[in-house]
Amino acid sequence: MASYFVIPVFIAHQGCPHQCLFCNQHRITGSSSAAMTAALVEEEIRRWLARPRRNSAAVVQVAFYGGSFTGLPIELQQELLGAVQPFIRAGLVQEIRLSTRPDYIDGAIVDFLKKSQVRLVELGTQSLDDEVLEASGRGHTAGQSEEAVRCLRSRGLEVGIQLMIGLPGDTTAKALATVRRTIALAPDLVRIYPTLVIKGSPLAALYAQGRYFPLTMNRAVALAARMKGLFEQSGIVVARIGLQPAPSLEEGLLAGPYHPAFGELVLSRLLFKQARRVLAAAHNGQKKKLVIAATDESVFRGQGNRNITRLAGLGLLDEVEIVFDKNQPRQSVDLQAVL
Ligand code: SF4
Repeated sequence: MASYFVIPVFIAHQGCPHQCLFCNQHRITGSSSAAMTAALVEEEIRRWLARPRRNSAAVVQVAFYGGSFTGLPIELQQELLGAVQPFIRAGLVQEIRLSTRPDYIDGAIVDFLKKSQVRLVELGTQSLDDEVLEASGRGHTAGQSEEAVRCLRSRGLEVGIQLMIGLPGDTTAKALATVRRTIALAPDLVRIYPTLVIKGSPLAALYAQGRYFPLTMNRAVALAARMKGLFEQSGIVVARIGLQPAPSLEEGLLAGPYHPAFGELVLSRLLFKQARRVLAAAHNGQKKKLVIAATDESVFRGQGNRNITRLAGLGLLDEVEIVFDKNQPRQSVDLQAVL
């Protein structure tokens, strides 16, 4: 998989007349409401290009985050994408990525994005259940998301799908049905975000009235782990789980399964489940080695060595030595007999 050097450009709330229940966009992105301009885009690109890079071969990608890019006035879209073109022509930037709402995609807009060198469009799909979408105030349907994916694909753009767990009206069964419908769309990547209650959002009012209950951390981690496992079995990349930590997000957080390393909690859960499965299947009292990638050591151990304590509590580590090996692939476990 290519390595990326991402230059983020935030376009908070510009062009968005909607008010999804969970959204207080300024707090989530940590960005001010100042209008984005071509000059600011150029300034941001130059600032990031001047930074040292760990991998000089990484693909440089300008990513327009937040808001709904294709909901902006077309002149502003042209201005912002136009600001990136000189950097592309000079070979300093290779790709553009942006995010938008599924109902802000049609053939004409996709043709324009393609001409402007946009490679990937991430759709704020959130759920593929119409009842959940309606209860969350999204203002679009699951069918519109599916149509948007087909429209992007048919014109050769890559597609990312952003999903949320714990939305109003959602259940585990509905979330897993959304996963199945998403897999059927074969996106290039997926992101999974837990729903949080942010000050100033309509969801905060529902929460205060006792009409919305966020997922507990444990349920959110378990559900996200299940979803990630299903996507990966289908060969779909899960590019991110959990929101990017930001001081403004933490200040605005009222309730919900927020953890700055939420994605790691999910990976830790998945490694625990893999280890439990292989150990239980070979539970015969003989000496063995459980091999884990060296880079996964802290994730495998879990907070306070929790995973190891749980495996030991299940009696699955009797006669088992745990080895952290730099040659073991990440996010995998191997059980070897000790002769
Ligand atoms: S469409 Fe996006 S920016 Fe607009 S209210 Fe919903 S989540 Fe916020």
